[in-house]
This record gives sequence, structure tokens and C-alpha cells, in this order.
Amino acid sequence: MVADLHLHTTASDGTLDPEELVVRAVALGLTTIAITDHDTAKGISRALRAGRRFGLHVIPGVEMSTVLEDEEELHILGLFIDYQDPTLKRVLSALRQARWRRMQEMTRRVMKLGLQVSWSRVRELAGRGAVGRPHLARALLEKGYVSSVGEAFSRYIGKGCPAYVPRPRLRPEEAIKLIRQVQGIPILAHPGWIARERLRKLVAEGLMGLEVFHPRHNLPTTRRLYRLARGWSLLLTGGSDFHGLPGEGWEPGAFTIPEEYVSALLEARLSLMNRETDRADRKKWR
Ligand SMILES: [Zn+2]
Ligand SMILES: [Zn+2]
Repeated sequence: MVADLHLHTTASDGTLDPEELVVRAVALGLTTIAITDHDTAKGISRALRAGRRFGLHVIPGVEMSTVLEDEEELHILGLFIDYQDPTLKRVLSALRQARWRRMQEMTRRVMKLGLQVSWSRVRELAGRGAVGRPHLARALLEKGYVSSVGEAFSRYIGKGCPAYVPRPRLRPEEAIKLIRQVQGIPILAHPGWIARERLRKLVAEGLMGLEVFHPRHNLPTTRRLYRLARGWSLLLTGGSDFHGLPGEGWEPGAFTIPEEYVSALLEARLSLMNRETDRADRKKWR
């Protein structure tokens, strides 16, 4: 049994819709996947339905973008979330709206620089997914203002550039709290060479696991994260972060974890739920 616990669909910036992703995962021999779209849970019910049909275990998840005081971005995965929870839906929708307004403002600033890109084209490039800087970059590329997406970032829309607008701020601790509130397990996504102190703080705030296995991690990074996770009794996860974008170079399942890690996640989830039920019961009888 093999599991890939980090996959994107068209609900955010992936190219496969939830059904296509499930079919692809089955064809590739995966037995468990997690749908972890950026700041949305919209692809989950379709993926669950397809999973039941094709005999694939689908874990409902989300990947929340958070921003630290120094503007550095951290992604927090929430696995096994109650994706229908109204509070979760409300927070995610507010985040998407904030992201939308940010991209509108960045497009406006690009236009003020004399570059003829339109907001409707940027939106079109985003398809049904969340609109983001890569779409604006592609609009600039299309018009020939830059010769690559990278150049669009370094000249116009990267941090410190003339059309840059800071991201809407959700703190990592807020994402962790929200994920736990909806019975999910908060995991730090692709932590890279994260400072121990920063990680310690996140764990104190309720972080429960580390995404150890990820395409962005080289061997020394993976080893260090593995040791950190083991040493601090954190849960271990991993996945391909598959988006299906041209040039990405890998399929779902390119980075997987064995069944025992999934079982550990499941156990942690159950004890989290029991704790919540206990608390609710105590309240009832008080
Ligand atoms: Zn990420
Ligand atoms: Zn991702």
C-alpha cells in the first residue's frame, strides 16, 4: 500500500479535476491519496465520491497559506479535516476573497506601469482555480513584456517589485488552530531547512506533523526532517505536491509514504476526536 498525501486539483491550481486525479492515482497503483488544494475544500466531495467508486482511499485535506511576521510564507496542511464545517468554509472563502482583491490590485499596478494586461485575461488564465501571481506572470509573458515567468517575478510582481502587493495575512498559529477545530491534523508542508526554534514554536502552537518527503527536499534535508520528526514525536507525511503543470516532471505517487505513517495519522486523528468529544461531554454535564 502506498500513499501520496499532497495533491492539487482544479479546485485550486492543479490541472486535473478531482475525478481525473482519482483515476490517475488508481492507474498508478496508489491506495491512499489526500486532496490538499490551496485554501479551498471545494474539490473534496467529488474526489471522495470518485474514490468510493474506484476503490481509492481519499483523505480530505487542505493546504493553507500562512504568512509570518517577516513576510515569509509557510504552508500548513490539514489532513482529515471536516471539510463541511461552516467555520472552515467561511475562513477559506474570506481568504480567497482577500487573495482575489490582492491580485486585482497587482494587475492594476502592472497596468499603471504601462503594461497592457487585463484583469479578465488574468482570471481566464486561472480557470476555475484560485487566481495567483503565476497567472499574472503568464499574462505578462503572453504579451511579450517578459521572456519568462521568472522574469515577471523578478521585474514586476516579486516581493519588493513595483507591482507587488503583500499577501493577505493568516498566521500559522491561526491555521493550526482552525485545522484542529475541524478535527484535522495540522502538518507543516515542505518545511525545507526550517530553523529549530521556529519549528519548536509551531509545535507549541499545536502543529502535529512534518511533511518530510517532498520533491523540494534533497537527501540531507529529508534526513534532518526525519530526525526532527522522530526526535520530537511528530507525525511524518509526504507527497508529490502534484499540480499536473507542464514541466513539473512527475506524476502523483512520485513521492509516497508507507502505510504505517497513514495508520499513525489515523490514530492521532481518532484520539483528537475523542478528546473533543470528552470536552463536549464534560461541558454538557457541567
Ligand atoms: Zn505548498
Ligand atoms: Zn501543495
